[in-house]
Amino acid sequence: MSDPILVVGAGPVGLAVAGELARRDVPVRIVDTLAAPTTESRAIVVHARSLEMLERVGVLDEITESGIKATGIEMHASGRVLARVELDVVDSPHPYSVVTAQTETERILAGNLAKHGVEVERGVSLVALEQDADGVRATLRGSDGAEDTVTASWLVGADGARSAVRHQIGSALEGSFHGERFLMGDVHAQHDFDPRSMYTFFSAHDGPLMVFPMKGDRMRLIAQIPTASADEASQEWLQRITDERAPGRIRIHDSLWLTCFEIRHAQVPQYRTGRVFLAGDAAHIHSPAGGQGMNTGLQDAFNLGWKLAAAHRGTASETLLDSYHAERHPVAARVIGFSTRLTQLSTLANPVAQHVRNAVLHTATGLGPARQALADEAEETMLAYHDSPAVVPSAARAKLRSGDHLPDVPGTDLRTVLSAETGHVLVTVGALPAAAPVPGVRQVLLADTDAPVDGFDAVVADPDRRAAARFGLTSGRIMVRPDGYVGAVAAASDDRSLTTYQELTTHLG
Ligand SMILES: Cc1cc2nc3c(=O)[nH]c(=O)nc-3n(C[C@H](O)[C@H](O)[C@H](O)COP(=O)(O)OP(=O)(O)OC[C@H]3O[C@@H](n4cnc5c(N)ncnc54)[C@H](O)[C@@H]3O)c2cc1C
Repeated sequence: MSDPILVVGAGPVGLAVAGELARRDVPVRIVDTLAAPTTESRAIVVHARSLEMLERVGVLDEITESGIKATGIEMHASGRVLARVELDVVDSPHPYSVVTAQTETERILAGNLAKHGVEVERGVSLVALEQDADGVRATLRGSDGAEDTVTASWLVGADGARSAVRHQIGSALEGSFHGERFLMGDVHAQHDFDPRSMYTFFSAHDGPLMVFPMKGDRMRLIAQIPTASADEASQEWLQRITDERAPGRIRIHDSLWLTCFEIRHAQVPQYRTGRVFLAGDAAHIHSPAGGQGMNTGLQDAFNLGWKLAAAHRGTASETLLDSYHAERHPVAARVIGFSTRLTQLSTLANPVAQHVRNAVLHTATGLGPARQALADEAEETMLAYHDSPAVVPSAARAKLRSGDHLPDVPGTDLRTVLSAETGHVLVTVGALPAAAPVPGVRQVLLADTDAPVDGFDAVVADPDRRAAARFGLTSGRIMVRPDGYVGAVAAASDDRSLTTYQELTTHLG
């Protein structure tokens, strides 16, 4: 048996990658410097696209129960509501964010990993690594200082913003390392906010205050503070700022976590170096303004997990492995752009610019398309890999395109059937016979009833042809990747797209 895959770092991203490998029966080790899980709540918003992925993992209910559903974003200025964006317009079976502490997300992901028989090896740090064409040798140091060199078939650096893996492979974050400064607190408080929304209060003289109601009387408060400020984070300071920017609405009882942080935006130029992959904060860091740091990292994990599982089996082409960088690097670049613009917009100091911002936001969010675009961007439901080298450009004249995330078809069991799969699924729409079998690819037919049909592993009832309408494809086949994205869309007469997909992604040598 070949060496296990080594995951360095048991934050949300490392736990998610290891989970994706373990549920595909790939041997995996996961190590973390910390002797116990962190108590810092950090990321508190899990977006719709991440929820779709967590549903596949089987932990959606646990995540949802651990927090509250937020279905709207509200922006305030000068004592009035400037704009409100409803999130339920996004194209997702879970059109909302779950607001829950990162400690909860990590607890649930670690529990999932344990269910697959993998425990985090704690108090263990990666201190050195070497690689060649056959594998990786990593030096691990225990909390007692003892070192051990282990071998791994592949290595994932999910060891956060100060990544040792990144340093060891000679890579570096490139970007801006100084920016606006914020005071952040997780507190228990009395307040009059509807917990189903997230709020930003723009202030004429100071920066914004962001308010996220959480479960019970818990809240996350983030307030811009002067860049030069060297003051220690304190509850009194946070209360004073809250009173100024959202007068009379929040009374803080006690604080669970208080910290000051500066916004930085940076990314590594390459996510893959031979047998080593970087994911999460090790690969990209950005402003918490868009709440997308952890979410982007989680989606790195879901993109990488199935590709590395195929690599471990020896069936992944170089194109497939390189597609991790090709697909995920532009996503983080876009998130950096979005959260930078959001931060700049929120922190405008010039009164004329503030006035223009408020007027534009008020007018634009009164328009359906602008509200939709903002909701899609916030919930990451616009994410697609159309330009990936590992998807086949669509020849079929379908609404659905290669690289899209396969949309849900309400009124059918398609999502439930797909969620149960860990590999590729070929979905047939229309009265076609099963395609020639391909090892590792399950075939699902959408038909009038769910009665078994020869050659298909499952049949999903769709008597009203909802899938055909949703996909804009009356008769054809869709290759759905293990992460739910579409690898190829083929019209009924086209077998070439499917074989091209196989040739692109599978090691044929
Ligand atoms: C104050 C603050 C507020 C934030 N708010 C938000 C938010 O609202 N929304 C959002 O989406 N994101 C937010 N983030 C960002 C979010 O927390 C990160 O994006 C997320 O934690 C990244 O997860 P990760 O697994 O990549 O890295 P981390 O969570 O940093 O995990 C890395 C792990 O690697 C371990 N490690 C490090 N070095 C080694 C080594 N050499 N060997 C072994 N293990 C090692 C560490 O102990 C750690 O457990 C916030 C961050 C901060 C600091």
